[in-house]
Amino acid sequence: MNIRIGNGYDIHRLVEGRALILGGVEIPHILGLLGHSDADVLTHAIMDAMLGALSLGDIGHYFPPSDPQWAGADSLVLLEQVNNLVRSQGWQIGNIDSTIVAERPKLKPYLKQMRDRLAEILAIKPEQVGIKATTNEKLGPVGREEGICAYAVVLLIAD
Ligand code: MG
Repeated sequence: MNIRIGNGYDIHRLVEGRALILGGVEIPHILGLLGHSDADVLTHAIMDAMLGALSLGDIGHYFPPSDPQWAGADSLVLLEQVNNLVRSQGWQIGNIDSTIVAERPKLKPYLKQMRDRLAEILAIKPEQVGIKATTNEKLGPVGREEGICAYAVVLLIAD
């Protein structure tokens, strides 16, 4: 089989006193995401989708929250490692599609920057990286601004 598909999901809690980083881009906001690393939910969902496509487990396996080495880690560095793993197994990214679900702030002004940043790290074209943003219509924990979540699907193609 020369194509594989993977999906990823992540959610982090919104708290005061933390930076809001999505897709490697710092976004001005009164709240930020809490986590062992920089808590970049979008990047985490994409990494899990890449690993899932090859049945390689999840990011918790490679970068365990119990390991102080990953405290405050830049998720783009982790993404680069996951990409290296995928590439070393003879696969490349066909495309990524993703959705960030956040009630606030408005993410549309930052989507292009996120796309360019992720494409750069993954060494693919920005056209291969889809990022969408939506609200949760004020429903549930995301709607109450208790957290932000992200979904991602990745298609891998054999070299
Ligand atoms: Mg995470």
